[in-house]
Amino acid sequence: MSLPKLKALEVWFITGSQHLYGPETLQQVTEHAAQIANGLNKAKEIPVMVIFQPIVTTPEEISNALAKAEQSPDCIGVITWMHTFSPAKMWINGLKRLRKPLLHLHTQFNRDIPWNKIDMDFMNLNQSAHGDREMGFMMSRMRLDRKVVVGFWQDKRVLAEIGTWCRAAAAWFDWQGAKFVRFGDNMRQVAVTEGDKVEAELKFGYSVNTHGVGDLVARINKIKNKEIDELIAVYDNSYTMTPVLKKNGAKRDSLRAAAKLELGIRHFLEEGDYKGYTNTFEDLHGMAQLPGIATQRLMADGYGFGAEGDWKTSALLRACNVMAEGLSGGNSFMEDYTYHFEPKNELVLGAHMLEISPAIAAGKPTCEVHALGIGGKADPVRLVFNVNGGSAINTSMMDMGNRFRLLVNEVTAVAPKKALPKLPVARVLWKPLPNMHTACAAWILAGGAHHTVFSQSLTTEHLRDFAEIAGIELLCIDKETRIPDFKNQLRWNEFFFQHNKY
Ligand code: MN
Repeated sequence: MSLPKLKALEVWFITGSQHLYGPETLQQVTEHAAQIANGLNKAKEIPVMVIFQPIVTTPEEISNALAKAEQSPDCIGVITWMHTFSPAKMWINGLKRLRKPLLHLHTQFNRDIPWNKIDMDFMNLNQSAHGDREMGFMMSRMRLDRKVVVGFWQDKRVLAEIGTWCRAAAAWFDWQGAKFVRFGDNMRQVAVTEGDKVEAELKFGYSVNTHGVGDLVARINKIKNKEIDELIAVYDNSYTMTPVLKKNGAKRDSLRAAAKLELGIRHFLEEGDYKGYTNTFEDLHGMAQLPGIATQRLMADGYGFGAEGDWKTSALLRACNVMAEGLSGGNSFMEDYTYHFEPKNELVLGAHMLEISPAIAAGKPTCEVHALGIGGKADPVRLVFNVNGGSAINTSMMDMGNRFRLLVNEVTAVAPKKALPKLPVARVLWKPLPNMHTACAAWILAGGAHHTVFSQSLTTEHLRDFAEIAGIELLCIDKETRIPDFKNQLRWNEFFFQHNKY
């Protein structure tokens, strides 16, 4: 399925108050709340619609407003704000039923204190400094995970934080009822790509089911030549073709076979409403090649993908693609492949056998065909490219047995300084933060997978918001990470998650 249009999704802005101050004050609360909601709605930092809702002043109004939010098919989350004081026992029943993502905006209508004019009327109206604390107590008392954003509502940082959370909420919304398909099972004996698919559906809302690769092959075999011709024309226009793949080139047929794979997989996904898939080189019966360019292009179109049966990474990549919609930079399936241990210039080279998304390509990819020692099939066609330098993250999801763990490592991608003339796959170089040995040690101590989503468009904050919405553990390896502290975090989290059934 294609990516959801973020501007079609709604976040509801619900302002709390009470009847203590009289109708005139409540009228002002309404006007101010509407102005803030409107301001958020128009802010370019916020990718979804922000919808003003009538202010709520009684337990009944609060329960009704939050029940409506919960039921609305387009509402992906709720922002609350207390312009005045809103006694928080009134919120208990409403909040108990709200399962959608929650953001508590701790702002104030006025940026500045009007030094010369301030009187008790102003003080009565502008009480969020303490009204929001009453609200915060109740949410903490109820152990509700939520995001708290603090600051003036027109401040760029505040808008950016809200926007980040909206993106996480949109990805969460996209996961609810999502379907991921696996062609074949897990790569034999591999541990980290396994996991509890029942627990994942309970926790995350998406389902993962398998089709024998024969079902996919049957769909591939229905592809007509005309459709292949059209897709080949797209390939010719989009990429620099290696001579053997050009028209009348010796391996032009390989390109046709690759296009046929892409069309077959694409139609299978569309017809089954799938948002992503996995495959495995151990189960390619009836397929001409291991899909290379097919998977690369499908990832760039927003689909999730995980190699070797890795459904957790497939779902995570889909979520990252939703979160990143409209941002610069891309996301890709990735694998830490090989290291450069030169002192003071340590690097990780990330790649895969074939499947790196051209969404992260620096410039026009070349389309090449080379032998592949794994899989025992005809030479697969793939896109080959480098990736620009700059900040990025690698993120990975593991099933730890009693919980899912989301792990993030902040990295600095580095444009390659030397040509890699014999490497026939797309690749990325990066320096992990805080440094190579700490980052790799922390990753390994956390049980981090070798498969990741590499993202140039998202930050740790997107993943942190997403993990909090999902109610799962998030570990971050960044410039502050020290191994002794990180080890303690692992120990303490073990205790926390054993005793808190999220
Ligand atoms: Mn792999």
